Parts: sequence; structure tokens; C-alpha cells
Amino acid sequence: MRVVIAGGGYAGLTAAIYLRRHTPQSHVILIDPKPFFLKKTYLHKTVHLPLSYFCLPYAEIARKFGFLFFKEEIDLRADKMEYILEKNSIPLSFGELSFDFLVLTTGSKPYLPFPVEGQRFVTLREVENGNISTIIKSLLPGSVITLIGGGATSLQFLGELLFVYGKKFHYRLISDQDQLLYPLPDFFHTYAQAFLEKNSVEYLMASKVTRVQDKRIWVTNQRDSEIKVHDSDLTLIFTGLKAHPKCFEADVFGRLLYNKKFYPHIFVAGDCSLYPGGNNTLSAQAAVRKGKKVAQNIMHHMRGEKLEPYTYEELGYFVSLGFLQAVGYLFDKRFFLSGPLAYFIKEIAEAQFDLFLKGWDVFIT
Ligand SMILES: Cc1cc2nc3c(=O)[nH]c(=O)nc-3n(C[C@H](O)[C@H](O)[C@H](O)COP(=O)(O)OP(=O)(O)OC[C@H]3O[C@@H](n4cnc5c(N)ncnc54)[C@H](O)[C@@H]3O)c2cc1C
Repeated sequence: MRVVIAGGGYAGLTAAIYLRRHTPQSHVILIDPKPFFLKKTYLHKTVHLPLSYFCLPYAEIARKFGFLFFKEEIDLRADKMEYILEKNSIPLSFGELSFDFLVLTTGSKPYLPFPVEGQRFVTLREVENGNISTIIKSLLPGSVITLIGGGATSLQFLGELLFVYGKKFHYRLISDQDQLLYPLPDFFHTYAQAFLEKNSVEYLMASKVTRVQDKRIWVTNQRDSEIKVHDSDLTLIFTGLKAHPKCFEADVFGRLLYNKKFYPHIFVAGDCSLYPGGNNTLSAQAAVRKGKKVAQNIMHHMRGEKLEPYTYEELGYFVSLGFLQAVGYLFDKRFFLSGPLAYFIKEIAEAQFDLFLKGWDVFIT
């Protein structure tokens, strides 16, 4: 049986490794346009560490676990998707690749809700290209760094910047929400706000950015509709992620529902998928669990067994705010943790995937 996996992020790699481990007779092919797996959950650390620290060549992982890797981008635009679903075959640069099972794990891309022009901004796209540390090192002391977005990505980058560069720069954080880290419980906001105050970060809440052009940012205060233009030497735009190329709907077993049709041999997992139950957040922990469930269900399908529904619920959530600083909860949202303990729990949670790539499956569920 040939299983083709489109996208080698947390979901795709989990599915590929799990399938090879538990069905040695299966023929697994992973396809990704990049030559290496990028540990996205560590991206904020590229503020001061080289991107290469967080990359692992697919060729190496494929050799270790016994699957094939093709460096290709699969065209998943609507007409091409129809062809793939109808023919059970994917057109690639070297010819057609047929499959018995297909797993779509193409992840997410940064979402930019306003026009952006010029050279003085960075999105996750530039971060993924490894450019951020060079850009920051080129800034003069006293430069203004603006972070747009009050979510986990913005705060993790800010925490890392403060840890490495201290007060060398002036930091500004703009969020269109009243609360930081919305919709997480209130204590995330309270802790993060105190962290901003302690570090003299200029915080504009309920403020909607409408345009970024070179060193200027247009901001509308959502309370009084006043528009202000702020100067910024570097703007980091972390306004969220959206499923790429689209959000694929699935049934409770992870099987694709596309244009009102159901495909029992095509599965979806990770940030690009929406299941009717369980945790659907755009997170590595959900991506890993969906990838594992999909692999298990492909194995059940091969053996003619009953499939298992995806029911994973988040075990916890942690946001780091620089070295030894973090906030989060474990198992129960009423018990919040902060400081070095929260930081270590987050590090351990992330190390689980590193161990998985070394051959140990230490995930709790
Ligand atoms: C800075 C940052 C910090 C984060 N921290 C955490 C955290 O602490 N905890 C947590 O749980 N989550 C965290 N996340 C979220 C987490 O990284 C994502 O939810 C996770 O990467 C999703 O995994 P995925 O496999 O669905 O997609 P991705 O990891 O995005 O992988 C998708 C893969 O598909 C490939 N692809 C795309 N299109 C195609 C195509 N057409 N053909 C073939 N391949 C294709 C891409 O190249 C990519 O390799 C963080 C994200 C960021 C950006």
C-alpha cells in the first residue's frame, strides 16, 4: 500500500514516522517543497540563534525511519485538487505519483489583514527564511521595534528580544484586542501586561493597524476612532496564521470532506484541517495528535478494522517570555503556572517532538 503525505510539518512527519514504525510493509512517501523540517515552535529563538539550529534535513529523517522524501510543491489549487481526488494520482515535476492513501498536512501561512509595503517589516515568512537576527543586529541603539499582534507569537518574540537585547531598543506592542493572549484565560493577560509594564514596553490595546508603509504604521484607536501614524524602525507583524492552501474539513476519523463529497482514503491533519470534535487549534500539539490518529486510522483501514475518532483535548498551553520566563496552565485552566517552572514545562513539552524524531514516542496521548 502506498501512502503519500503532502507536507512535512509536525502532522505530516508524525503520520510518516508512525506509519513506518507500525506497518513496515507500507510504502510511505513524504513530499515537501523545503529540504528540511523546521521546528516552528522554536522560531522566536531565531532572534539570536541561527535558523539552522532548528532545521533537520528530511533526507536524514527519511533514511532513519525508512520512507521516501521528494522535494516538490504539490499544486492544490481547486482544479488540480479535483484531478488528484478523481485519479488518485498527483502530477509532480517528474511524472505522476499514484497513491492508495493520501494525507494532506500542508499547515498554515501568515495572515496579513492590512496592506504592507516597504523594507522595514518582518513577518513569519522572513523569519522562516532566517533573516531576522541579521536585521535586528543592524539596528542602532534606541531604535523603535514595533510588534503587531497581542498573541503568543508576538509575546514570545518580544520576550526573546528583551532577554537578549534588554533595553537597547524601544519596544511597542499593538493589539486590536482589549486583552493580551485572547481568548486564553484572564491570568495570561494579567501576567503578560505586568511583564510589558516591568520592561517599559509601550502597549497600544484595542488599536487596529490599517496600513504599514516602510517606517510608518497607521493605527485606529477602536474606542474613539482616532487615527494616528507611528514611526517604527522595524515592524514585526504577527497577526495570526490561516490554513494553507485552505481549511480542509474532515469527519471525526480525519477523512476528507471536500465539495460535499466524502473521500474514505484521503485524510487531513494539522493546521490545514478542521475536525468535528477534539482540539482544532493551530498548534503543534494538535497537529501531532491528528497526525498520529490519521496514521492509526490508515492502519485500521488497511486491516479492515473499525476506525477511531479524534477526541484529543489540549493538555495545557504555555507562552514563553524570554529565558526562564513563561506563563501557562497544565491539565486544568484554573491552575496557572509562571516563571522558571512554566518555562521548563514548555521546554519539556517541546522536547517531546525532538525525542520523537530520535525514535522515542513519549507523547502522553
Ligand atoms: C513562532 C511560533 C511558535 C509556536 N509555538 C508553539 C508552541 O509552543 N506550541 C504549539 O503547540 N504550537 C506552537 N506553534 C504552532 C505550530 O508551529 C503549528 O501549529 C504547527 O507547525 C502546525 O503543524 P502542521 O504540520 O500542521 O503544519 P506546518 O508545521 O506548517 O507544516 C506544513 C508543511 O507543509 C508544507 N507544504 C505546504 N504546502 C505544501 C504543498 N502544496 N505541497 C507539499 N508540502 C506543502 C510546508 O512546507 C510545511 O513543511 C507555534 C508557531 C509559531 C509560528
